Amino acid sequence: MKRWIVVFLMLAVGAAWAADSQPAKAKAGEGKAGKAKAGKAKSAEAKAGEAAEGKEAKKPELGFSDTPMLPGQKWHVHDVARPQPPVVAPGTCSTQEAPGKAPSDAVVLFDGKDLSKWEMDKGGPAQWKVENGYVEAVPKLGGIRSKETFGDCQLHIEWLVPEGTQGQSQGRGNSGVFLMGLYEIQVLDSYNNPTYADGGAGAIYGQWPPLVNPCRPQGQWQTYDVVWIAPRFDGEKLVSPARETLFFNGVVVHHDDVLNGPTAHKKALPYKPQPPTGPIALQAHGNPVRYRNIWVRPLKGHDEP
Ligand code: MG
Repeated sequence: MKRWIVVFLMLAVGAAWAADSQPAKAKAGEGKAGKAKAGKAKSAEAKAGEAAEGKEAKKPELGFSDTPMLPGQKWHVHDVARPQPPVVAPGTCSTQEAPGKAPSDAVVLFDGKDLSKWEMDKGGPAQWKVENGYVEAVPKLGGIRSKETFGDCQLHIEWLVPEGTQGQSQGRGNSGVFLMGLYEIQVLDSYNNPTYADGGAGAIYGQWPPLVNPCRPQGQWQTYDVVWIAPRFDGEKLVSPARETLFFNGVVVHHDDVLNGPTAHKKALPYKPQPPTGPIALQAHGNPVRYRNIWVRPLKGHDEP
């Protein structure tokens, strides 16, 4: 009996050893793979370390000073000494439901809350109606203008003609955005509303019709994104006229168009010397047009801080 027990125990131990030996082999294999992986990881780490040491030893080339001079500029091609552009956090786009955010370096003239940065054209606090995140023209009170003045600039402004606005031609949803207080971009309900070509929405009023008419219907927000180059004067003399680029609802409608002078109704006015900056002004023209999300970025030249 004892002998049988001994045999049984020997067999059991043998089976246990055999069962354990397979994983052991596998583990040994894993060990090899693991070692291989570790080896690779180590070599990658070592490489990274070597690269880092290399970087420390030699900084990457950011530019050159032995390249040709750029014609008309004081810089070499890829000039290592050329100033870096200032960093700006971009804004966000608006939707019909909500206005977007202005870029980080913009002067926000109206963020939906109050008209503290505006005054009446005739002076005194701006009294247009502010509600629901927009400002609405109160025509009988007259126009409003920004207290701060601007020359060359990027302007973003959104406008809406309320649903149900009646009238035809110039009498339907008429307002206007004036650069430097003198140069009007027409605001009008130009959706299925013919008028003279240089007086529709997006026109440089009385001078240049928009290239196309991308106007949305009443009750929808519309956007103007303007690049404005102010006129230059040397004393009484005009050195260079104003120039304007306009994206209307994201569609280019003016591309570097040159203005003849201040815009006017049934007149072609010549330039008169004026200060280098002027206000952004909004026209009261008999219709309760709404505005929101108004911001300006004064523009400098290249390489200026
Ligand atoms: Mg107008």
